Amino acid sequence: MDWMIAYENRNVFLYCPLCSARALKVHKKSAYVCTECGLEFYLNTAAAVVALIEDEEGRLLVTVRDHKPKEGMLDLPGGFVDPGETAEEAVRREIEEEVGLKAEQLEYFGSAPNRYLYKGVHYATEDLAFVCRVSDWSGLKAREEIRDVLRLKREEIDLERFAFDSVRHFLRLYLNR
Ligand SMILES: [Zn+2]
Repeated sequence: MDWMIAYENRNVFLYCPLCSARALKVHKKSAYVCTECGLEFYLNTAAAVVALIEDEEGRLLVTVRDHKPKEGMLDLPGGFVDPGETAEEAVRREIEEEVGLKAEQLEYFGSAPNRYLYKGVHYATEDLAFVCRVSDWSGLKAREEIRDVLRLKREEIDLERFAFDSVRHFLRLYLNR
């Protein structure tokens, strides 16, 4: 995968956000430089979280995305870590926002890089996965940004239907352990 800031050589940002000169050039993997004023403009890797949640019958909670990118494809609950938030706070918040459940215990599972295309801009993320324990499933419901919520048995999980490489990576490890 190409991790350069100008993905597939398409430089979407041309104007310096500081001096407005049309002088922004790719500088390194995560930064542009302005050849007029010298600004180094970073789009650093963003932290994001992913939740692996099994029910009491060993089925995995899977969501159907209701928005771009990858609308209609499968995903796991999760999203970007907000400024000032811990990854643990973020995964609890995302689980509640997306599927209406409260995670009681969290266990760090691993990390994987991902690339997220949104409105023509590619964002590099580092996805942090947690195995999350939920005991009360009464609130389960597809909520924000989710079209549907499924509980899939291991043999029903088809990695090709998932939206992101990082999630496929986590699922491969999870299903093989
Ligand atoms: Zn400039």
